[in-house]
Amino acid sequence: MYIIKEAFYSLQGEGAQTGRPSIFCRFASCNLWNGKESSRANSICTFCDTDILGSDGINGGKFKSETALVDNILSLWPCNETPAYIIFTGGEPALQLTQTLIDEFKSRNTILAIETNGTLELPSGIDWICVSPKGASNVIISKCDELKLVYPQNDALPEKFSHIKAKKYYLSPKNPLNNDDIISSQNDALTQCMDYCLAHPKWSLSLQTHKILNIA
Ligand code: SF4
Repeated sequence: MYIIKEAFYSLQGEGAQTGRPSIFCRFASCNLWNGKESSRANSICTFCDTDILGSDGINGGKFKSETALVDNILSLWPCNETPAYIIFTGGEPALQLTQTLIDEFKSRNTILAIETNGTLELPSGIDWICVSPKGASNVIISKCDELKLVYPQNDALPEKFSHIKAKKYYLSPKNPLNNDDIISSQNDALTQCMDYCLAHPKWSLSLQTHKILNIA
């Protein structure tokens, strides 16, 4: 049984694939927070801004077979000529992603990406791996395509992940949960990200352009 919170077609808003038309497949649940506000303060990840519980979002549901889930996801792609670019996100998608599901997607005309906290093993065959470490969690993935770190996190500073090999390294400003004003000059996290990138040019700034554009 695969539990999908929601799935939708939009533009990727962050990181190296910014602007790319993508289907977002959001798996429910995470191993670093149970999704309940009462538990947030004592969780490993304390700043999640996503509803990760249940299957009640748009195109969400509980899928008993790989075929049913893949059919649901691919119905969102607008054409057959271009491979469907699918981003597995969450929650933590690695909790539910199986090799069987990846193989089913790969048997269709797809390119597969994942946004993961990096604490769990991944099945093979994913074409673009974005690791986004959170808090004091133990990141076990040591090689990926993109390392995207929410900054600043006192228990997850960039130096901690210098051993991880990636094609791209990004800092993403950590916003207060009640503030989506990510480009305000008053945004302290943005200023800190810019300062860090300028001092450490291995890292680049990533903004949540979907919030700037006010799209999903
Ligand atoms: S690791 Fe990601 S999905 Fe899990 S609680 Fe943190 S921000 Fe949310």
